[in-house]
Amino acid sequence: MTSDANCIFCKIVRGEIPAKKVHEDEHILAFHDVRPQAPVHLLVIPKVHVPTLYDANLNHQEALGRMLALAGELARKEGAADGFRVIINTGRVGHQEVYHLHMHVLGGPEPLGPMLARRK
Ligand code: AMP
Repeated sequence: MTSDANCIFCKIVRGEIPAKKVHEDEHILAFHDVRPQAPVHLLVIPKVHVPTLYDANLNHQEALGRMLALAGELARKEGAADGFRVIINTGRVGHQEVYHLHMHVLGGPEPLGPMLARRK
Protein backbone atom coordinates (compact mmCIF):
# COMPACT_ATOMS: atom_id res chain seq x y z
CA MET A 1 0.00 0.00 0.00
CA THR A 2 1.35 3.45 -0.88
CA SER A 3 2.35 5.50 2.13
CA ASP A 4 4.21 8.83 2.39
CA ALA A 5 6.80 9.01 5.17
CA ASN A 6 6.16 12.71 5.86
CA CYS A 7 2.40 12.86 5.40
CA ILE A 8 0.52 13.60 8.63
CA PHE A 9 -2.50 11.49 7.66
CA CYS A 10 -0.28 8.58 6.61
CA LYS A 11 1.28 8.85 10.08
CA ILE A 12 -2.20 8.54 11.60
CA VAL A 13 -2.86 5.49 9.38
CA ARG A 14 0.42 3.94 10.56
CA GLY A 15 -0.44 4.72 14.21
CA GLU A 16 2.58 7.01 14.61
CA ILE A 17 0.48 9.96 15.79
CA PRO A 18 -2.79 9.73 17.71
CA ALA A 19 -6.26 10.43 16.37
CA LYS A 20 -9.76 10.07 17.78
CA LYS A 21 -10.79 7.30 15.42
CA VAL A 22 -14.46 6.58 14.77
CA HIS A 23 -14.07 3.98 12.01
CA GLU A 24 -11.33 1.86 10.51
CA ASP A 25 -11.39 -0.90 7.93
CA GLU A 26 -9.07 -2.29 5.26
CA HIS A 27 -9.51 0.72 2.96
CA ILE A 28 -10.42 3.80 4.99
CA LEU A 29 -10.04 5.57 8.31
CA ALA A 30 -12.34 8.16 9.91
CA PHE A 31 -11.40 10.38 12.84
CA HIS A 32 -12.32 13.67 14.49
CA ASP A 33 -10.80 16.82 13.03
CA VAL A 34 -8.35 18.27 15.54
CA ARG A 35 -9.75 21.82 14.93
CA PRO A 36 -13.49 21.20 14.61
CA GLN A 37 -15.46 23.81 12.67
CA ALA A 38 -18.85 22.34 13.59
CA PRO A 39 -20.20 20.29 16.52
CA VAL A 40 -19.58 17.19 14.43
CA HIS A 41 -16.45 17.42 12.27
CA LEU A 42 -14.99 14.17 11.00
CA LEU A 43 -12.32 13.48 8.42
CA VAL A 44 -12.64 10.36 6.31
CA ILE A 45 -9.54 9.29 4.39
CA PRO A 46 -8.32 6.48 2.17
CA LYS A 47 -5.52 4.55 3.88
CA VAL A 48 -3.47 4.69 0.71
CA HIS A 49 -1.66 7.98 0.08
CA VAL A 50 -3.58 9.85 -2.61
CA PRO A 51 -2.56 13.54 -2.46
CA THR A 52 -5.71 15.14 -3.91
CA LEU A 53 -8.96 14.32 -5.65
CA TYR A 54 -7.11 15.14 -8.91
CA ASP A 55 -4.92 12.09 -8.23
CA ALA A 56 -7.81 9.69 -7.60
CA ASN A 57 -8.59 7.11 -10.25
CA LEU A 58 -10.48 3.85 -10.64
CA ASN A 59 -7.87 2.01 -8.59
CA HIS A 60 -9.24 3.94 -5.61
CA GLN A 61 -12.92 3.27 -6.13
CA GLU A 62 -13.26 0.83 -3.23
CA ALA A 63 -11.91 3.40 -0.77
CA LEU A 64 -13.77 6.35 -2.33
CA GLY A 65 -17.01 4.38 -2.41
CA ARG A 66 -16.67 3.40 1.23
CA MET A 67 -15.94 6.99 2.24
CA LEU A 68 -19.28 8.14 0.83
CA ALA A 69 -21.19 5.00 1.71
CA LEU A 70 -20.32 5.31 5.41
CA ALA A 71 -20.61 9.12 5.75
CA GLY A 72 -24.26 9.09 6.83
CA GLU A 73 -23.82 6.29 9.33
CA LEU A 74 -20.78 7.97 10.91
CA ALA A 75 -22.41 11.42 10.96
CA ARG A 76 -25.49 10.04 12.68
CA LYS A 77 -23.45 8.03 15.18
CA GLU A 78 -21.40 11.10 16.12
CA GLY A 79 -24.42 13.34 16.72
CA ALA A 80 -25.45 14.78 13.34
CA ALA A 81 -28.81 13.06 12.98
CA ASP A 82 -30.60 15.87 11.13
CA GLY A 83 -28.26 16.60 8.24
CA PHE A 84 -24.61 17.18 7.45
CA ARG A 85 -22.23 18.45 4.78
CA VAL A 86 -19.49 16.66 2.90
CA ILE A 87 -16.57 18.72 1.58
CA ILE A 88 -13.42 17.66 -0.26
CA ASN A 89 -11.09 20.64 -0.54
CA THR A 90 -8.84 20.18 -3.55
CA GLY A 91 -5.64 22.01 -4.43
CA ARG A 92 -4.67 25.64 -4.01
CA VAL A 93 -7.94 27.11 -5.19
CA GLY A 94 -9.86 24.65 -3.01
CA HIS A 95 -7.84 25.71 0.08
CA GLN A 96 -6.50 22.20 0.66
CA GLU A 97 -4.04 22.25 3.58
CA VAL A 98 -3.22 18.57 4.03
CA TYR A 99 -2.18 16.84 0.83
CA HIS A 100 -3.67 13.45 1.60
CA LEU A 101 -7.17 13.21 0.12
CA HIS A 102 -9.78 13.63 2.85
CA MET A 103 -13.50 14.17 3.10
CA HIS A 104 -14.83 16.53 5.76
CA VAL A 105 -18.13 15.46 7.34
CA LEU A 106 -19.66 18.49 9.08
CA GLY A 107 -22.87 18.40 11.01
CA GLY A 108 -25.19 20.00 13.54
CA PRO A 109 -27.28 19.29 15.70
CA GLU A 110 -28.26 22.81 14.52
CA PRO A 111 -28.03 24.09 10.91
CA LEU A 112 -24.54 25.13 9.82
CA GLY A 113 -23.52 28.49 8.36
CA PRO A 114 -24.63 29.87 4.99
CA MET A 115 -21.73 28.40 2.95
CA LEU A 116 -23.09 27.21 -0.41
CA ALA A 117 -26.58 28.24 0.66
CA ARG A 118 -28.75 29.63 -2.12
CA ARG A 119 -28.29 33.41 -2.30
CA LYS A 120 -31.49 35.46 -2.57
P1 AMP B 1 -8.08 20.87 4.39
O1 AMP B 1 -8.06 22.38 4.43
O2 AMP B 1 -9.29 20.35 3.68
O3 AMP B 1 -6.79 20.30 3.87
O4 AMP B 1 -8.25 20.43 5.89
C1 AMP B 1 -7.29 19.74 6.64
C2 AMP B 1 -7.91 19.46 7.99
O5 AMP B 1 -7.08 18.57 8.69
C3 AMP B 1 -8.10 20.70 8.87
O6 AMP B 1 -9.48 20.84 9.18
C4 AMP B 1 -7.25 20.37 10.11
O7 AMP B 1 -7.84 20.83 11.31
C5 AMP B 1 -7.18 18.86 10.05
N1 AMP B 1 -6.03 18.26 10.70
C6 AMP B 1 -4.74 18.57 10.52
N2 AMP B 1 -3.94 17.77 11.27
C7 AMP B 1 -4.77 16.93 11.93
C8 AMP B 1 -4.56 15.87 12.86
N3 AMP B 1 -3.32 15.51 13.26
N4 AMP B 1 -5.65 15.21 13.34
C9 AMP B 1 -6.88 15.57 12.95
N5 AMP B 1 -7.14 16.56 12.07
C10 AMP B 1 -6.09 17.24 11.57
